[in-house]
Amino acid sequence: MTAVLPSRTPAPERPTGGRLIDQFEYGLDAPICLTWELTYACNLACVHCLSSSGRRDPRELSTAEAEAVIDELQRMQVFYVNVGGGEPTVRPDFWHLLDYAIGHDVGVKFSTNGVKLDRARAEQLARTDYVDVQISLDGATAEVNDAVRGAGSFATATRALENLAEAGMKDFKVSVVVTRENAGQLDEFKALTDRYGAQLRITRLRPSGRGADVWDQLHPTQAQQRELYQWLLANGDNVLTGDSFFHLSAFGEALPGLNLCGAGRVVCLIDPVGDVYACPFAIHENFLAGNVRDEGGFQRVWQSSELFADLRSPQTGGACTKCAHFDACRGGCMAAKFFTGLPLDGPDPECVQGYGETALAARDAATVTPKSHIDHSHKGPVRGQPTLLGMPSIPKAAPARICDESPLAGLDLR
Ligand code: SF4
Ligand code: SF4
Repeated sequence: MTAVLPSRTPAPERPTGGRLIDQFEYGLDAPICLTWELTYACNLACVHCLSSSGRRDPRELSTAEAEAVIDELQRMQVFYVNVGGGEPTVRPDFWHLLDYAIGHDVGVKFSTNGVKLDRARAEQLARTDYVDVQISLDGATAEVNDAVRGAGSFATATRALENLAEAGMKDFKVSVVVTRENAGQLDEFKALTDRYGAQLRITRLRPSGRGADVWDQLHPTQAQQRELYQWLLANGDNVLTGDSFFHLSAFGEALPGLNLCGAGRVVCLIDPVGDVYACPFAIHENFLAGNVRDEGGFQRVWQSSELFADLRSPQTGGACTKCAHFDACRGGCMAAKFFTGLPLDGPDPECVQGYGETALAARDAATVTPKSHIDHSHKGPVRGQPTLLGMPSIPKAAPARICDESPLAGLDLR
């Protein structure tokens, strides 16, 4: 593991009382936001996919290995896991693993583009406790959504929403990545979500995976960030945001949600081949802490990895510590800084005070922005593949050799 963070003093003991956020900074015995991407396979080819998904990785965890991970999560008392991908429901054993997790006291919240959520599956989900579903939608209209997620994807997602609503499913979510194209549709998203009796969840576009290729073009402008902040102040109590927008708290009043980068402290990712990263938006070897197949499994990685110990140590805010808004914003998102080539102890590229833009402009012409070593993007055209108007064609990195063999073997992509 390569050291990625400025050097720090050794980690002190986690405080046993006081504010929760102070305890979170020192890490917990088990993650509270564990994301598990079950597969890199996906029927779509969204332009901003954070994990560059498309083709299945033949090294994917087997059913038995996935069950062993769930057993471990049960022992660690991880109460729920965020399951994603790729498109998790194209794994033939997805429904079995869902039942297995729930049967072992691990609740499941899964994200899907809706491709498999027909009436029968919706009714099955409505009958199941401890399961939550998030349907991804990146435009409140087909025109805006399909430009990013592909032709027909709006119709697929809204059909799934209809099926869930008609089946009587409670508390399902519509999950939106806020972009320059849809930032003006927040009220429409809210109305659409209310229509299905669902809840709106909005997240930040990070320059991770294929998102790095379109971030310059799609990330919200400064004016849109301010409007988004005002909108969240007015509507935030009924909208989920996770840790997405705490950098906006530098505009003034703190927003609801986790106001802290939880990477490696309360957040981590298990990827389809069992690699454990500090955060779902940090799929890069610098943030790779270990693999669940290693001796000691996930628990050992979470509790003993050198990288996570480093992330849980007191951090310097670097240039940000001079900022009057540091307590609210804490320098923003580690992954956003890393994948735009900015120092991790400096301002976020979307710093609302404008310091991020200055830092981006001041990057050396020779700066090479880090790229993930993982890319499972489809090699050929995909039905309905999105094309952003005015976008330059995106050069594809040479695919990992391992993915050239039977990339979709055993998967039902209907
Ligand atoms: S790196 Fe960014 S996305 Fe990841 S946990 Fe930190 S703030 Fe959240
Ligand atoms: S300078 Fe740093 S702490 Fe201040 S608002 Fe910008 S990112 Fe946040």
